[in-house]
Amino acid sequence: DLPLNSSSDASHQSSTEHPSLEHFWMPFTANRQFKANPRLLTKAEGMYYTDIDGNKVLDATAGLWCCNAGHGRKEISEAVSKQIKEMDYAPSFQMGHPIAFELAERLVELSPEGLNKVFFTNSGSESVDTALKMALCYHRANGQASRTRFIGREMGYHGVGFGGISVGGLSNNRKAFSGQLLQGVDHLPHTLDIQNAAFTRGLSHFGAEKAEVLEQLVTLHGAENIAAVIVEPMSGSAGVILPPQGYLKRLREITKKHGILLIFDEVITAFGRVGAAFASQRWGVIPDIITTAKAINNGAIPMGAVFVQDFIHDTCMQGSNELIEFFHGYTYSGHPVAAAAALATLSIYENEQLFERSFELERYFEDAVHSLKGLPNVIDIRNTGLVAGIQFSPNAQGAGKRGYGVFEHCFRHGTLVRATGDIIAMSPPLIVDKREIDQMVNSLSDAINAVG
Ligand code: PMP
Repeated sequence: DLPLNSSSDASHQSSTEHPSLEHFWMPFTANRQFKANPRLLTKAEGMYYTDIDGNKVLDATAGLWCCNAGHGRKEISEAVSKQIKEMDYAPSFQMGHPIAFELAERLVELSPEGLNKVFFTNSGSESVDTALKMALCYHRANGQASRTRFIGREMGYHGVGFGGISVGGLSNNRKAFSGQLLQGVDHLPHTLDIQNAAFTRGLSHFGAEKAEVLEQLVTLHGAENIAAVIVEPMSGSAGVILPPQGYLKRLREITKKHGILLIFDEVITAFGRVGAAFASQRWGVIPDIITTAKAINNGAIPMGAVFVQDFIHDTCMQGSNELIEFFHGYTYSGHPVAAAAALATLSIYENEQLFERSFELERYFEDAVHSLKGLPNVIDIRNTGLVAGIQFSPNAQGAGKRGYGVFEHCFRHGTLVRATGDIIAMSPPLIVDKREIDQMVNSLSDAINAVG
């Protein structure tokens, strides 16, 4: 007998057939350009993707800064499959399940000192909105309800929620929604300084004084009206912008002095990207709240986590409403399957010492990317851990065109990099080896020469 579903099986597309591109409105993508010339990935294993036509593509971006343990990890897929069979879902509302508590405990073993409480979300954007709301919750519970203002930074990226785009400083993400952003938000100046610090390896000596603008904002608004400062310790999405030496420390001093909370958005930097579990540890500055997502479970299942200092949590717990202390949460907060993937991921990071590897490979990666200095139109190269940004001058066709051209060329020749405007970012999985680093840098070099 034929199986009952044989006819539908026969009509079902195999994964290598080209799908209709008609209906999916793609996020953060030049839809028209893409659909005219699509780039479709179908498989991932180790350091490589395979595209729909069977071409192998070296992953120099860890997906989208997520797959730090490399692709196709059996430990993760097995943990996910086991968990789905055991319990697919449990309500996050007035109910719990052991695996989320276990994960929170494991995460806290990695987190900077004092950040001992974990709130689960499903993405970086949700982690950011959660952190901003926690800051408000804390000040209100602490008898300082007037502290409602937020301070972000120019060129900062904090996801796409209304909170995130309000404190964020990428003008394209804001302009399209202007008029409807959060009130009471200021921005510190960004720390990109090509004039003084081009081709700096690691952190620059220039620019720590940009943190002093925070004092001016405190004078302007009054500390009693400011809830929190949020910055990425290293901006990823804006094109790998590193903190000048001493800058983060200064932000910490000023926020502490004025009772303002300091939030580090580590959605990209957490879990080994910059040569330590957290950027906060690498650069020795401990904030009050840290937002994470992405590499928490190797990008396998959507998940984010907000790490919080005990005093914030404890103060919120003393809030006036004893039924629910913090009116916030998601249906999928601490989702058991995402949590199982995260536990398996953390074991890989630990067993394979991938955070240490990121630190140890830093110098090799640095030398490799800085070898691109002198190629046509390269005006800056920045790096730390296993992340680098290569910046070009814009070409005559307009801002971002040269960067996009380099990205396209790389992809067509078998390497996936990421373009933000005229900056190419590379952030390979932390399992990368020296040969693969050479391969990605050679591919980029060819693309830069070809695009001109
Ligand atoms: N914050 C930072 C620093 C990010 O880099 C990102 C994503 N690149 C986000 C927040 C938003 O994360 P998501 O896309 O998961 O919402």
